Amino acid sequence: MKKSLSNHLLTVGSVAFDSIKTPFGQAKKTLGGSATYFSLAASFFAQPSIIAVVGQDFQHRHKQILQKRQIDLSGLRVQKGKSFAWTGEYFLDLNTRQTLKLALNVFADFKPQLLLHHRQSPYVFLGNIHPKLQLQVLRQIENSKLVGLDTVDFWIEHNLKELQKVLKLVDVFVINEAEARQLSKERNLRQAAKKIIRMMGKTKSPILIIKQGEYGLLMFYHGEIFNSPGYPLETIFDPTGAGDSFAGGFMGYLAGVDKVDENHLKRACIFGSVIASFCVEDFGTKRLERLTKKEIQNRFAEFKHLTHFEIK
Ligand code: AMP
Repeated sequence: MKKSLSNHLLTVGSVAFDSIKTPFGQAKKTLGGSATYFSLAASFFAQPSIIAVVGQDFQHRHKQILQKRQIDLSGLRVQKGKSFAWTGEYFLDLNTRQTLKLALNVFADFKPQLLLHHRQSPYVFLGNIHPKLQLQVLRQIENSKLVGLDTVDFWIEHNLKELQKVLKLVDVFVINEAEARQLSKERNLRQAAKKIIRMMGKTKSPILIIKQGEYGLLMFYHGEIFNSPGYPLETIFDPTGAGDSFAGGFMGYLAGVDKVDENHLKRACIFGSVIASFCVEDFGTKRLERLTKKEIQNRFAEFKHLTHFEIK
Protein backbone atom coordinates (compact mmCIF):
# COMPACT_ATOMS: atom_id res chain seq x y z
CA MET A 1 0.00 0.00 0.00
CA LYS A 2 2.72 2.44 -1.01
CA LYS A 3 1.56 5.93 -1.95
CA SER A 4 3.70 7.90 -4.37
CA LEU A 5 3.01 11.25 -5.98
CA SER A 6 3.21 9.72 -9.43
CA ASN A 7 0.08 7.69 -8.61
CA HIS A 8 -2.41 10.45 -9.17
CA LEU A 9 -6.07 9.55 -9.31
CA LEU A 10 -8.45 12.25 -10.44
CA THR A 11 -12.15 12.06 -9.77
CA VAL A 12 -15.14 14.17 -10.69
CA GLY A 13 -18.31 13.60 -8.70
CA SER A 14 -20.63 15.07 -6.14
CA VAL A 15 -19.48 16.64 -2.89
CA ALA A 16 -22.78 16.77 -1.12
CA PHE A 17 -24.84 17.06 2.00
CA ASP A 18 -26.85 13.93 2.60
CA SER A 19 -29.92 13.37 4.73
CA ILE A 20 -30.18 9.67 5.36
CA LYS A 21 -32.74 7.46 7.08
CA THR A 22 -32.11 3.79 7.76
CA PRO A 23 -33.94 1.32 10.04
CA PHE A 24 -31.14 2.01 12.57
CA GLY A 25 -31.30 5.79 12.76
CA GLN A 26 -30.94 8.94 10.74
CA ALA A 27 -28.46 11.67 9.90
CA LYS A 28 -29.24 15.17 8.61
CA LYS A 29 -27.01 17.22 6.27
CA THR A 30 -23.99 15.06 6.77
CA LEU A 31 -21.01 15.30 4.41
CA GLY A 32 -21.37 12.85 1.52
CA GLY A 33 -21.28 12.70 -2.25
CA SER A 34 -19.68 10.32 -4.71
CA ALA A 35 -16.35 12.20 -4.94
CA THR A 36 -16.13 12.45 -1.15
CA TYR A 37 -16.52 8.72 -0.50
CA PHE A 38 -14.43 7.82 -3.54
CA SER A 39 -11.45 9.95 -2.60
CA LEU A 40 -11.53 9.07 1.12
CA ALA A 41 -11.39 5.39 0.12
CA ALA A 42 -8.71 5.90 -2.54
CA SER A 43 -6.51 7.95 -0.20
CA PHE A 44 -5.32 4.75 1.53
CA PHE A 45 -3.54 3.70 -1.68
CA ALA A 46 -2.99 6.64 -4.05
CA GLN A 47 -3.04 10.44 -4.36
CA PRO A 48 -6.65 11.48 -5.09
CA SER A 49 -7.72 14.87 -6.47
CA ILE A 50 -11.31 16.06 -6.57
CA ILE A 51 -13.00 18.05 -9.34
CA ALA A 52 -16.27 19.37 -7.94
CA VAL A 53 -18.12 22.42 -6.72
CA VAL A 54 -19.61 23.22 -3.32
CA GLY A 55 -21.73 26.06 -2.00
CA GLN A 56 -21.20 28.47 0.87
CA ASP A 57 -22.68 25.90 3.27
CA PHE A 58 -19.47 23.86 2.89
CA GLN A 59 -17.49 24.73 6.00
CA HIS A 60 -13.90 24.50 7.14
CA ARG A 61 -14.66 21.36 9.20
CA HIS A 62 -15.92 19.60 6.05
CA LYS A 63 -12.79 20.57 4.16
CA GLN A 64 -10.68 19.26 7.03
CA ILE A 65 -12.22 15.78 6.73
CA LEU A 66 -10.77 15.56 3.21
CA GLN A 67 -7.52 17.38 3.97
CA LYS A 68 -6.71 15.03 6.87
CA ARG A 69 -6.42 12.27 4.27
CA GLN A 70 -4.18 14.46 2.05
CA ILE A 71 -6.77 14.72 -0.71
CA ASP A 72 -5.89 17.39 -3.28
CA LEU A 73 -8.64 20.01 -3.26
CA SER A 74 -7.18 22.39 -5.85
CA GLY A 75 -10.06 21.40 -8.15
CA LEU A 76 -12.79 21.96 -5.55
CA ARG A 77 -14.56 25.25 -6.33
CA VAL A 78 -16.65 27.19 -3.87
CA GLN A 79 -19.56 29.04 -5.48
CA LYS A 80 -22.39 31.23 -4.26
CA GLY A 81 -25.39 29.08 -3.36
CA LYS A 82 -25.98 25.69 -1.78
CA SER A 83 -24.08 22.43 -2.18
CA PHE A 84 -25.53 19.39 -3.92
CA ALA A 85 -28.08 17.86 -1.55
CA TRP A 86 -29.36 14.31 -1.52
CA THR A 87 -32.06 12.75 0.68
CA GLY A 88 -32.47 8.99 0.73
CA GLU A 89 -34.08 6.24 2.73
CA TYR A 90 -33.23 2.57 3.22
CA PHE A 91 -35.67 -0.07 4.41
CA LEU A 92 -34.98 -3.42 6.07
CA ASP A 93 -33.52 -4.77 2.83
CA LEU A 94 -30.48 -2.53 2.91
CA ASN A 95 -29.56 -3.41 -0.68
CA THR A 96 -32.21 -1.12 -2.14
CA ARG A 97 -32.80 2.54 -1.41
CA GLN A 98 -35.13 5.26 -2.42
CA THR A 99 -33.99 8.73 -3.44
CA LEU A 100 -36.50 11.12 -1.86
CA LYS A 101 -34.95 14.40 -2.98
CA LEU A 102 -32.05 15.42 -5.18
CA ALA A 103 -31.04 19.07 -5.57
CA LEU A 104 -28.12 19.80 -7.93
CA ASN A 105 -27.82 23.37 -6.57
CA VAL A 106 -24.34 24.77 -7.46
CA PHE A 107 -23.70 21.74 -9.70
CA ALA A 108 -26.42 22.98 -12.09
CA ASP A 109 -24.06 25.55 -13.71
CA PHE A 110 -20.70 23.99 -12.91
CA LYS A 111 -18.14 24.08 -15.75
CA PRO A 112 -15.09 22.07 -14.66
CA GLN A 113 -11.71 23.66 -15.54
CA LEU A 114 -8.81 21.30 -14.96
CA LEU A 115 -5.34 22.45 -13.93
CA LEU A 116 -2.25 20.97 -15.62
CA HIS A 117 -1.64 18.31 -12.96
CA HIS A 118 -5.28 17.24 -13.17
CA ARG A 119 -5.13 16.91 -16.95
CA GLN A 120 -2.05 14.72 -16.71
CA SER A 121 -3.43 12.36 -14.11
CA PRO A 122 -2.74 8.76 -15.24
CA TYR A 123 -5.78 7.37 -13.43
CA VAL A 124 -9.18 9.01 -13.77
CA PHE A 125 -12.56 8.15 -12.29
CA LEU A 126 -15.75 9.73 -13.56
CA GLY A 127 -17.77 9.35 -10.38
CA ASN A 128 -21.51 9.51 -10.15
CA ILE A 129 -22.64 12.92 -11.42
CA HIS A 130 -24.32 14.33 -14.54
CA PRO A 131 -22.83 12.56 -17.61
CA LYS A 132 -22.40 15.98 -19.26
CA LEU A 133 -19.89 16.91 -16.54
CA GLN A 134 -18.19 13.52 -16.81
CA LEU A 135 -17.68 14.23 -20.55
CA GLN A 136 -16.40 17.76 -19.92
CA VAL A 137 -13.75 16.39 -17.56
CA LEU A 138 -12.79 13.53 -19.84
CA ARG A 139 -12.28 15.89 -22.80
CA GLN A 140 -9.60 17.76 -20.82
CA ILE A 141 -7.61 14.64 -19.89
CA GLU A 142 -4.36 14.32 -21.83
CA ASN A 143 -2.67 10.96 -21.31
CA SER A 144 -4.58 8.62 -19.09
CA LYS A 145 -3.70 4.99 -18.40
CA LEU A 146 -7.07 3.94 -17.05
CA VAL A 147 -10.44 5.70 -16.98
CA GLY A 148 -13.30 4.41 -14.84
CA LEU A 149 -16.96 5.37 -14.78
CA ASP A 150 -19.86 5.12 -12.35
CA THR A 151 -23.47 6.21 -12.65
CA VAL A 152 -26.86 5.66 -11.00
CA ASP A 153 -30.46 5.01 -12.05
CA PHE A 154 -31.22 8.76 -12.00
CA TRP A 155 -28.84 9.49 -14.93
CA ILE A 156 -29.83 6.29 -16.81
CA GLU A 157 -33.42 7.46 -16.63
CA HIS A 158 -32.92 11.16 -17.40
CA ASN A 159 -29.71 11.44 -19.46
CA LEU A 160 -29.23 8.15 -21.28
CA LYS A 161 -27.84 9.57 -24.55
CA GLU A 162 -25.05 11.51 -22.81
CA LEU A 163 -24.28 8.55 -20.58
CA GLN A 164 -23.91 6.27 -23.62
CA LYS A 165 -21.43 8.76 -25.10
CA VAL A 166 -19.23 8.62 -21.97
CA LEU A 167 -19.52 4.85 -21.77
CA LYS A 168 -17.87 4.55 -25.18
CA LEU A 169 -14.77 6.37 -23.89
CA VAL A 170 -13.92 4.50 -20.68
CA ASP A 171 -11.99 1.36 -19.74
CA VAL A 172 -13.81 0.38 -16.53
CA PHE A 173 -17.52 0.66 -15.76
CA VAL A 174 -18.84 0.08 -12.24
CA ILE A 175 -22.59 -0.21 -11.62
CA ASN A 176 -24.95 -2.11 -9.37
CA GLU A 177 -27.10 -4.98 -10.54
CA ALA A 178 -30.40 -3.06 -10.69
CA GLU A 179 -28.71 -0.41 -12.85
CA ALA A 180 -27.16 -3.10 -15.07
CA ARG A 181 -30.64 -4.51 -15.69
CA GLN A 182 -32.09 -1.03 -16.24
CA LEU A 183 -29.39 -0.09 -18.78
CA SER A 184 -29.34 -3.38 -20.70
CA LYS A 185 -33.03 -4.26 -20.35
CA GLU A 186 -31.87 -7.80 -19.54
CA ARG A 187 -32.76 -9.63 -16.31
CA ASN A 188 -29.95 -12.19 -16.46
CA LEU A 189 -26.69 -10.56 -15.38
CA ARG A 190 -24.45 -12.43 -17.85
CA GLN A 191 -26.72 -11.32 -20.70
CA ALA A 192 -26.78 -7.81 -19.25
CA ALA A 193 -22.97 -7.77 -19.05
CA LYS A 194 -22.64 -8.86 -22.70
CA LYS A 195 -24.85 -6.00 -23.83
CA ILE A 196 -23.15 -3.39 -21.66
CA ILE A 197 -19.69 -4.49 -22.75
CA ARG A 198 -20.84 -4.02 -26.35
CA MET A 199 -21.87 -0.45 -25.44
CA MET A 200 -18.29 0.23 -24.20
CA GLY A 201 -16.34 1.04 -27.33
CA LYS A 202 -12.96 2.39 -26.25
CA THR A 203 -10.73 -0.55 -25.41
CA LYS A 204 -10.42 -4.04 -26.80
CA SER A 205 -10.74 -5.35 -23.26
CA PRO A 206 -13.29 -3.34 -21.30
CA ILE A 207 -13.78 -4.14 -17.64
CA LEU A 208 -17.29 -4.22 -16.22
CA ILE A 209 -17.99 -4.60 -12.52
CA ILE A 210 -21.52 -5.35 -11.40
CA LYS A 211 -21.95 -4.74 -7.65
CA GLN A 212 -24.43 -6.89 -5.77
CA GLY A 213 -24.66 -5.00 -2.49
CA GLU A 214 -23.91 -7.16 0.54
CA TYR A 215 -23.62 -10.24 -1.72
CA GLY A 216 -20.43 -9.10 -3.46
CA LEU A 217 -19.67 -8.49 -7.11
CA LEU A 218 -19.08 -9.87 -10.56
CA MET A 219 -16.16 -8.56 -12.62
CA PHE A 220 -16.29 -9.21 -16.37
CA TYR A 221 -12.84 -8.79 -17.90
CA HIS A 222 -10.90 -10.16 -20.92
CA GLY A 223 -13.74 -12.61 -21.63
CA GLU A 224 -13.55 -14.01 -18.08
CA ILE A 225 -15.61 -13.59 -14.89
CA PHE A 226 -14.35 -13.02 -11.35
CA ASN A 227 -16.88 -13.47 -8.56
CA SER A 228 -16.22 -12.18 -5.07
CA PRO A 229 -18.55 -12.40 -2.07
CA GLY A 230 -19.26 -9.44 0.18
CA TYR A 231 -17.61 -9.41 3.59
CA PRO A 232 -20.12 -10.94 6.05
CA LEU A 233 -20.57 -8.04 8.48
CA GLU A 234 -22.31 -8.37 11.83
CA THR A 235 -23.51 -4.77 11.89
CA ILE A 236 -24.49 -2.46 9.05
CA PHE A 237 -25.66 1.02 9.97
CA ASP A 238 -25.75 2.99 6.74
CA PRO A 239 -25.08 1.65 3.22
CA THR A 240 -24.61 5.17 1.78
CA GLY A 241 -21.29 5.51 0.01
CA ALA A 242 -20.58 1.78 -0.20
CA GLY A 243 -20.54 1.87 -4.00
CA ASP A 244 -18.28 4.92 -4.17
CA SER A 245 -15.98 3.51 -1.49
CA PHE A 246 -15.73 0.29 -3.47
CA ALA A 247 -14.79 2.27 -6.58
CA GLY A 248 -12.28 4.35 -4.58
CA GLY A 249 -10.62 1.26 -3.13
CA PHE A 250 -10.61 -0.47 -6.53
CA MET A 251 -9.19 2.45 -8.55
CA GLY A 252 -6.98 3.61 -5.68
CA TYR A 253 -5.32 0.22 -5.39
CA LEU A 254 -4.64 0.07 -9.17
CA ALA A 255 -3.27 3.63 -9.19
CA GLY A 256 -1.10 2.83 -6.15
CA VAL A 257 0.51 -0.25 -7.69
CA ASP A 258 0.35 1.27 -11.18
CA LYS A 259 -0.50 -2.12 -12.72
CA VAL A 260 -3.72 -3.32 -14.36
CA ASP A 261 -3.14 -7.02 -15.02
CA GLU A 262 -5.49 -9.85 -14.05
CA ASN A 263 -4.09 -10.43 -10.56
CA HIS A 264 -4.07 -6.76 -9.68
CA LEU A 265 -7.62 -6.34 -10.97
CA LYS A 266 -8.78 -9.17 -8.68
CA ARG A 267 -6.92 -7.76 -5.68
CA ALA A 268 -8.38 -4.34 -6.47
CA CYS A 269 -11.87 -5.89 -6.29
CA ILE A 270 -11.09 -7.26 -2.82
CA PHE A 271 -9.54 -4.02 -1.54
CA GLY A 272 -12.60 -2.17 -2.88
CA SER A 273 -14.91 -4.60 -1.07
CA VAL A 274 -12.87 -4.27 2.13
CA ILE A 275 -13.17 -0.46 2.18
CA ALA A 276 -16.89 -0.61 1.30
CA SER A 277 -17.46 -3.04 4.18
CA PHE A 278 -15.91 -0.55 6.61
CA CYS A 279 -17.85 2.38 5.15
CA VAL A 280 -21.24 0.88 6.06
CA GLU A 281 -20.31 0.26 9.71
CA ASP A 282 -21.22 3.83 10.69
CA PHE A 283 -23.24 6.79 9.40
CA GLY A 284 -21.90 8.94 6.56
CA THR A 285 -18.11 9.19 6.29
CA LYS A 286 -17.45 8.56 10.01
CA ARG A 287 -16.02 5.05 9.69
CA LEU A 288 -13.74 6.00 6.77
CA GLU A 289 -12.46 8.97 8.76
CA ARG A 290 -11.13 6.74 11.54
CA LEU A 291 -10.11 3.80 9.35
CA THR A 292 -6.47 2.65 9.48
CA LYS A 293 -4.22 0.85 6.99
CA LYS A 294 -3.75 -1.94 9.54
CA GLU A 295 -7.51 -2.58 9.68
CA ILE A 296 -7.61 -2.70 5.87
CA GLN A 297 -4.75 -5.22 5.71
CA ASN A 298 -6.32 -7.41 8.40
CA ARG A 299 -9.70 -7.56 6.67
CA PHE A 300 -7.99 -8.19 3.31
CA ALA A 301 -6.29 -11.22 4.90
CA GLU A 302 -9.64 -12.36 6.35
CA PHE A 303 -11.15 -12.17 2.85
CA LYS A 304 -8.42 -14.49 1.59
CA HIS A 305 -9.15 -16.93 4.39
CA LEU A 306 -12.92 -16.73 3.82
CA THR A 307 -12.73 -17.56 0.13
CA HIS A 308 -9.83 -20.06 0.08
CA PHE A 309 -10.31 -23.80 -0.25
CA GLU A 310 -8.13 -26.75 -1.26
CA ILE A 311 -9.10 -29.03 -4.15
CA LYS A 312 -7.62 -32.09 -2.41
P1 AMP B 1 -23.47 5.23 -3.12
O1 AMP B 1 -24.22 4.82 -1.89
O2 AMP B 1 -22.04 4.81 -3.09
O3 AMP B 1 -24.15 4.84 -4.39
O4 AMP B 1 -23.42 6.82 -3.16
C1 AMP B 1 -24.07 7.64 -2.27
C2 AMP B 1 -23.66 9.07 -2.47
O5 AMP B 1 -23.96 9.49 -3.80
C3 AMP B 1 -24.38 10.00 -1.55
O6 AMP B 1 -23.44 10.56 -0.66
C4 AMP B 1 -25.06 11.04 -2.43
O7 AMP B 1 -24.74 12.36 -2.06
C5 AMP B 1 -24.51 10.79 -3.81
N1 AMP B 1 -25.55 10.77 -4.84
C6 AMP B 1 -26.78 10.22 -4.79
N2 AMP B 1 -27.43 10.37 -5.97
C7 AMP B 1 -26.59 11.04 -6.78
C8 AMP B 1 -26.67 11.51 -8.15
N3 AMP B 1 -27.73 11.33 -8.92
N4 AMP B 1 -25.58 12.15 -8.66
C9 AMP B 1 -24.48 12.33 -7.91
N5 AMP B 1 -24.34 11.92 -6.63
C10 AMP B 1 -25.37 11.28 -6.06
